[in-house]
Amino acid sequence: MDDKTNQEGAEQLVIFEEKITTVNGQGAIKKYQRGKFLGKGGFAKCYEATILESKKVLAAKIIVKSSLTKNRARQKLISEIKIHKSLQNTNIVQFEHVFEDHENVYILLELCSNQTLNELIKRRKRLTEIEVQCYVGQIINALKYLHAQKVIHRDLKLGNLFLNKSMELKLGDFGLATKLEFEGEKKRTICGTPNYIAPEVLDGRVGHSFEVDVWSLGVIMYAMLIGKPPFETPDVKTTYRKIRLNSYSFPEHVLISDSAKSLITRILNLDPSQRPTLDEIMAHPFMNTGGTIPKTLPLSTLACPPSAS
Ligand code: ADP
Repeated sequence: MDDKTNQEGAEQLVIFEEKITTVNGQGAIKKYQRGKFLGKGGFAKCYEATILESKKVLAAKIIVKSSLTKNRARQKLISEIKIHKSLQNTNIVQFEHVFEDHENVYILLELCSNQTLNELIKRRKRLTEIEVQCYVGQIINALKYLHAQKVIHRDLKLGNLFLNKSMELKLGDFGLATKLEFEGEKKRTICGTPNYIAPEVLDGRVGHSFEVDVWSLGVIMYAMLIGKPPFETPDVKTTYRKIRLNSYSFPEHVLISDSAKSLITRILNLDPSQRPTLDEIMAHPFMNTGGTIPKTLPLSTLACPPSAS
């Protein structure tokens, strides 16, 4: 790819090309126009990309191949692609396509133009309970599908929960996901993001399974309602100690309902077998309100709380 973005970051015309073989065995070229820069991850830079032929706009995660020299990084990317490619659900970022040229790997994804819940919380500070109910319902829909496919996400956090232009929640980033091969299999790899990591993952000896995603959902719920994750401290070691001791509290200055507190407390249980299942969370009074939870929220909630009508 010819990278012509100048030092001021002004957008210039950048086209990347995919060489494809047609059914009659002839070569063809599919062109994509790179657009707005969306964000940067561990290995990838993400841009808007337009398929020139159809004018369809997608998100392109571009990974420079020379950054994948370590075997582990390559294996991780291969596993991310394999798992993500196999998934299809309304609340999961749709994997569209993957291809490579000499320099880069291009992963084309459904575009989520309203950023992630991380930016939303930073902007809004915290969310109202109706918004949290709406988002939790969508996260559970994604997790029920994922777990039915025997996939554990293992990196559920605000920054991996995307919003598309219609404000539908989409779970993304399958870089740490794993697929279980047999019933009752336990994983031992220590991975995740410090604030959201489940206690049984920290103790690599015991092994972990689907319940780690439920724990992270509890952390997410707390962070959405309170404005910061429950075990947050200035250093990772102290955060891990607090997680192991289940040491967190609800600040008095933030008003939240007893049903919200009760659900979070039930989810953040040190014993994975004691955490509620996804169906039990949906049946809990915080989520089972009698049909008043909207499917999606208005765009105005990106900046302000919904009106209490
Ligand atoms: P990595 O796996 O290397 O951490 P990410 O998947 O986190 O990369 O992507 C990096 C950034 O790109 C994200 O923080 C987000 O800002 C942006 N991004 C990723 N996927 C999308 C998408 N589907 N739509 C819009 N922006 C996206």
